Amino acid sequence: MIRRNNKKMTFDCHMHTPLCGHAHGDPVEYVRAAHEKGIDLITFTCHTPMADSAFGTQKTRMTEQDLPRYKEMVSKAREFGADLGVSVLFGIEAEVSADLRAMDTMDEVLDRWEFDFVLGSLHHQLPAYRTTLAQRNLRNDAAIIGDYFSTLTTAAATGRYDSFAHPDLIRIYGTVEPFDPRQYETVIREFLASAAEHGICIEVNTSGWTKGVFEVHPAPIILSWAAESGTDLTIGSDSHKPESVGQFFDRAYDLVAQAGFESICYFEAGMKKRVSLTDMVFTAGEKAG
Ligand SMILES: [Zn+2]
Ligand SMILES: [Zn+2]
Repeated sequence: MIRRNNKKMTFDCHMHTPLCGHAHGDPVEYVRAAHEKGIDLITFTCHTPMADSAFGTQKTRMTEQDLPRYKEMVSKAREFGADLGVSVLFGIEAEVSADLRAMDTMDEVLDRWEFDFVLGSLHHQLPAYRTTLAQRNLRNDAAIIGDYFSTLTTAAATGRYDSFAHPDLIRIYGTVEPFDPRQYETVIREFLASAAEHGICIEVNTSGWTKGVFEVHPAPIILSWAAESGTDLTIGSDSHKPESVGQFFDRAYDLVAQAGFESICYFEAGMKKRVSLTDMVFTAGEKAG
């Protein structure tokens, strides 16, 4: 897929399927929505199966038995997209956890299915993370926020993930009180530096504008620190319904440019592809890491 003209190339690399139990619409409908909004490439990233129910079961994620169906749905969407000029990639939203046994089991799934793109999410609102916090007696907000970002810092070195979804998710969903990221600049910058060092991206997640503190993930100040650190970006709407595909992308591009970025990336077969924000020249085949 090499673009030889200067046509703008846009992509949305975070969306779900009904298999997770809390998203709506056939993948084909997401493709149609992308086409209507002029988006050239989308990546499905439904929630990965997790054997341990502490990561949520019903209405949180598909089971391992659903994976063949997931692949089939994405393949059908890809065929549909081919006629409309929308490329469709096969990704997954994986979990980030300090629970090494859970990570080992998840890795078997990730290895077996050869996803184009692996997002890493620390869903702190799930019982798995809340339990680890209690076990380690991390009870005040400062300790929890520090732990959240240092868990991501460690995860960046594993090579398991291509990008971290909604990297400041800890700002919403009530595990801690709302906070100003500037209070945690050191630990957040350590995470961004670790991601940059290992060639792992962070995601600009536009669903932040629809919930919580109604701000993009990550917050604009974190985006500017990421630009200073040389951390690359991916972008995703985190759509759980077709209408959300590409939501608020214009606003996101403006913020990303203001923060000092010159490009946004997507992944195909685990390879990082960079698209320039300014002239939209497409560079194929840049190696991740
Ligand atoms: Zn979801
Ligand atoms: Zn998601």
